[in-house]
Amino acid sequence: MPAAAPAALVAEGIHKSFGDLEVLKGVSLTAKEGDVIAMLGSSGSGKSTFLRCVNMLENPNAGRISVGGETLRLVPGKHGEGLVAEDKEQLRRVRSRLAMVFQSFNLWSHMTVLENVVEAPIHVLKRPKAEAVAYGEEILQRVGLYDRKDYYPAHLSGGQQQRVAIARALAMDPSVMLFDEPTSALDPELVGEVLRVMRSLAEEGRTMIVVTHEMGFAKEVSTETIFLHEGRIEEAGSPQEVFNNPCSERFRQFLEGNL
Ligand code: ADP
Ligand code: MG
Repeated sequence: MPAAAPAALVAEGIHKSFGDLEVLKGVSLTAKEGDVIAMLGSSGSGKSTFLRCVNMLENPNAGRISVGGETLRLVPGKHGEGLVAEDKEQLRRVRSRLAMVFQSFNLWSHMTVLENVVEAPIHVLKRPKAEAVAYGEEILQRVGLYDRKDYYPAHLSGGQQQRVAIARALAMDPSVMLFDEPTSALDPELVGEVLRVMRSLAEEGRTMIVVTHEMGFAKEVSTETIFLHEGRIEEAGSPQEVFNNPCSERFRQFLEGNL
């Protein structure tokens, strides 16, 4: 029998404090290839900090991170900043398999849509320009923005900007995509176009961790729904289990809008 494929992402026992504030108290999750994990939780529960620890934008104080079977070698930082990568080259390699999409798009305002999408493939992945452009254009077709490729971000709606941010992430061919409330900054009428793109990514088998307040997306698209409360996972399971029969009283309160 062939060996089971390694998990796309394993985060194990992630702890993170800011000074005296313990924000993550041992958070673990495993995403298999093709899993879509929806992460729910009130503001301040540690969702963004968790995603930021997974790609080492924050230094966790403890924990293990493994991407596609490769475990990041982490050692205590010299300045009390938590764990740091022992090998910068390994960090670069592991990070290149993760792509993050932020609430606030974070596009480069002085670059066109296409330039935003091809920048990292050309300068980080060292792809030939013509190849990066052809692939970038193909991805822009997929998110429905090919006809906007020469626009600057300021001339696009928020929903279009977020679709560019998703295209930019896709252009790196990541094995796991991390979304931090990708629709929270959008006017309500623009949320749907972004969720449709995310749903299509899920349907094609992309591995995704999605921090979101969109319950419909969590219910209909996620393979697993997780509820984070005060830095701990309070509830986790299939969306059917979690929404129809929650174990945690706090999660019930959250669903009723009382948390
Ligand atoms: P969420 O994304 O669930 O709303 P966050 O992960 O952003 O929560 O924040 C969790 C807690 O950590 C909050 O109390 C926040 O104020 C605190 N926090 C986040 N980042 C920092 C930081 N860089 N320095 C100090 N405190 C922080
Ligand atoms: Mg957040």
